[in-house]
Amino acid sequence: ADDTDDGELETIVAGTNPGFEPFQMNVDGELVGFDVDLLEAVVAETDGYELADDWEELEFDSLIPALENENIDVIAAAMTITEEREESISFTESYYSADQSVLVQSGGDVDPDELEDLEGLEVGAQSGTTGEGIVEDELGDDVDYTSYDNYVLAVEELERGTLDAIVIDEPVAESFADDRDVEVAFTFETGEEYGFGVRQDDDDLQEALSEGIAAVEESSEYDEITQEWFGE
Ligand code: GLN
Repeated sequence: ADDTDDGELETIVAGTNPGFEPFQMNVDGELVGFDVDLLEAVVAETDGYELADDWEELEFDSLIPALENENIDVIAAAMTITEEREESISFTESYYSADQSVLVQSGGDVDPDELEDLEGLEVGAQSGTTGEGIVEDELGDDVDYTSYDNYVLAVEELERGTLDAIVIDEPVAESFADDRDVEVAFTFETGEEYGFGVRQDDDDLQEALSEGIAAVEESSEYDEITQEWFGE
């Protein structure tokens, strides 16, 4: 992060991975979504920071390396707080809770009720995600697994019928089910909490953003942003 001309404020660059609706997506060349609005509101609550106008749009599994290399200063990508990730980066307090779902083609032959039903099938997830970790840990060699650079690519294969199922965060599964030819087969509890990611030595930023999240949640802003992107 660089100090800016207006003296006091430190400009921070946010990085994300579009294609994960409604948290972050590219609509007509514009980056929009829940995480975009939320991080903007959270940074506005801080005393010492301002957000650079342009976000870095990266593949999901490039976000942590980009943070470590100081190409970005904060990750806002519906990223689940995990112990494994906390070995290399730090997270703010949680700003959203989610479970995982299994997506299948609408009206197709594949209709699983539980993870074990995916055995023998062609299953996809996005590289570096908790969804991918679940497939690897729970199903291993029992499925024919394909890792995609982006969940949108996996959803397209599902629509074409060249993939049987996708493991993906529940709110995103619901959103794809609303506007594509796919449906949620079932949801299973993982109790994931999303946090904004910062470098381990950026304690001040971590604290400022966590306080900002609390302030946004206490004001009407969190509910307004939720209403805007989830209609709840
Ligand atoms: N919440 C999931 C994870 O952290 C997926 C995030 C994403 O694909 N943007 O792995």
